[in-house]
Amino acid sequence: MLGQMMQLPLLISSLIVHAERHHGDQLVVSRRVEGDIHRISYREVAARARRVANAMTTLGVQPGQRAATLAWNTHRHMELYYGVSGSGRVLHTVNPRLHPDQIVYIADHAEDQVMFFDMSFWPLIQAVAGRTKTVKHWVAMTSREFMPPAEQAAKVPGLLCYEELLAQSSDRYAWPVFDENTASSLCYTSGTTGNPKGVLYSHRSTVLHTMAAALPDCLGCSASDAILPVVPMFHVNSWGIVYLAPMTGAKLVLPGPGLDGKSLYELFESEGVTISAGVPTVWQGLLAHVEANGLKFSTMRKSAIGGSACPPAMIRKFRDAYGVHVIHAWGMTEMSPIGTAAAFKAQHHGLDDEGKLAVMSTQGRAVYGVDMKIVGEDGAELPWDGAASGDLLVRGPWIIDTYFKGEGGNPLVKDAEGNGWFPTGDVAKITPAGYMVITDRSKDVIKSGGEWIGSIDLENIAMAHPAVAMAACIAAPHPKWDERPLLVVVKKPGAEVTREELLAFYEGKIAKWWTPDDVVFTDAIPLGATGKMQKNKLREQFKAHRLPTA
Ligand code: AMP
Repeated sequence: MLGQMMQLPLLISSLIVHAERHHGDQLVVSRRVEGDIHRISYREVAARARRVANAMTTLGVQPGQRAATLAWNTHRHMELYYGVSGSGRVLHTVNPRLHPDQIVYIADHAEDQVMFFDMSFWPLIQAVAGRTKTVKHWVAMTSREFMPPAEQAAKVPGLLCYEELLAQSSDRYAWPVFDENTASSLCYTSGTTGNPKGVLYSHRSTVLHTMAAALPDCLGCSASDAILPVVPMFHVNSWGIVYLAPMTGAKLVLPGPGLDGKSLYELFESEGVTISAGVPTVWQGLLAHVEANGLKFSTMRKSAIGGSACPPAMIRKFRDAYGVHVIHAWGMTEMSPIGTAAAFKAQHHGLDDEGKLAVMSTQGRAVYGVDMKIVGEDGAELPWDGAASGDLLVRGPWIIDTYFKGEGGNPLVKDAEGNGWFPTGDVAKITPAGYMVITDRSKDVIKSGGEWIGSIDLENIAMAHPAVAMAACIAAPHPKWDERPLLVVVKKPGAEVTREELLAFYEGKIAKWWTPDDVVFTDAIPLGATGKMQKNKLREQFKAHRLPTA
C-alpha cells in the first residue's frame, strides 16, 4: 500500500522559492571583486536567479548541459547556483587554483557550454579560452565599467558582460518541475593522482544533504544566524552553505576574494557573523591576525572546521581564548561533502575541559543519512573499540555511486547483503560511542616494521608547540623498518625551536616508537587547490633525506 502524501520532488529551486516567500527581506552580503561590500535580499537573489535561468535559454544551453563557473563566493555566484541548476542545467564549479592544463581538461571533459568568471581570473581565462573545445560564451561576472579593455577582450571570442546579460533577461520565469534525481551540479576531485574525476550531484542528493547539514549537531544554523562560508563555492558547493542559508532563512555573508585574516575579521564583525566554516589553514591566518592585534570576536559562536584534520591546539585556542565552539567535521567531494561532525552527546557534558577537547578533536560521528564502517585488509568489519584501525567505507543518499561518464569503473565495494559501500581512501578508527578518528590518508600512511604510525597524531602534537606554524609528517625510507616518520616543520615568524626540543616535546604524549626519527625545517609546505597539504610533493622533496637512525 502506498502512502497518501503529496509527491513533490526535492528540487534546488524550492530552496530559493522558500527563501523568497518566507525570508524575502533577509540579506546576502558580499565582498565583491570590484572591492565594494554589496547587499541584496533573498527576494532580489531569487529574481536575478530567474534572469539567469532565462539567460541560459538565450545562450543556447540545453537542459542537462553544463555551465561552468570560475568564481569566488559572491551573490553573483549564488545566482548561478540557483539559475543554472534550478532551470535543469548542470552547474560545474571549477577550482581556479588548478593548473590551466587541468582546467582545459575538465572543461572539455564536462563539455562546458559557457564559462562564467570573476574578473580576478581574467589572466587565467586568457590562458585557457583558445584551448577549450565546447565553451561558446565567456561571461565576465561584472558590470560594463569593469570589463576588460577592448584589445584584450578581442582575444576572447564570445565574451559577454554578466550584468548586461541579466539586464536583457526577464525576471519572469516558472521554475520547471522534473525528476529529483536529475543532475544539478558537477565538481571534480582534486586529482592528486591521475586526471581529476567528476562527481555529479543530483537535486535530491543536494536537498537531503542540505537538510542534514543544517541539523543542530552539524552546522546547526537557524534564521537567527548570520553564516559566512570561508570554504569556497568551488570546493564541494561550499559544504552546502549556499543552499542551507536560504533553507533556514539565515543571513548569508560571502567573503569574495578576501580570505586573508584582516578581511575576514572585518566582515565577521561588521556583519555580526555567528557561524563560519572553512579549512584549518584559513583559520590559522585569521587567528594570527586576531592574536597579533589583540582582537576578540563579538558575535561568532561556532566555526565548522574540516577538509583536513583540525589540530586540537586550534580547537583549544578558539574555545579558551575566544569563546568560539569548533565543530570538527569530515567529508569528501564524493560525499557532497558532509559525513561526520564532532558534536557532543548528553554523556559528554559532564566531562572536564580536557575530556571535552578529546571528543571535539575526533572527526565526529555520522550525520543521519551517512553510514560508515571500518574494514581490515580481508574486507571484514573491524570493531568500534577506539583501537582497531582500517579502511573507512561509507554509504548514503548523498554519496557517490559512479564518477561522471563512468570514469574509473565502479568504485563501490559490495558487502554480504549486496549493498555498495564507497571506499573513502581514509584510514580510521571508531570509538564505542561512534566517533570516528582519521589516522591517515591510506596513501600517506607510514609503515614502520609492518605497523602503521598515524601521521595526523604526530602533526597534531607538533602543531601544539608554540613555535610551530605548520607541520607535516611523512614516511622516509629506512633500511631496517622500511619507513620511519620524518617531521617537516614551518616555524612561526620570529619563533625559534630546535630539532631536539621538538623531539623532546613528544615525550609522554605517544608510544616512544612513534616519535619521528628526524625533523627538517622548511619555509613552506606545499598546499593543494583546496588547502590540503600535498604530502606526495613533500615525499618527493625529501626522498633523498637520510635519517640519522638509518
Ligand atoms: P576533498 O574531496 O578534496 O574534500 O578531500 C577529502 C579528503 O580530505 C578526505 O578523504 C580526508 O582525507 C580529508 N579530510 C577531510 N576532512 C578531514 C578532517 N576533518 N580530518 C582529516 N582529514 C580530512
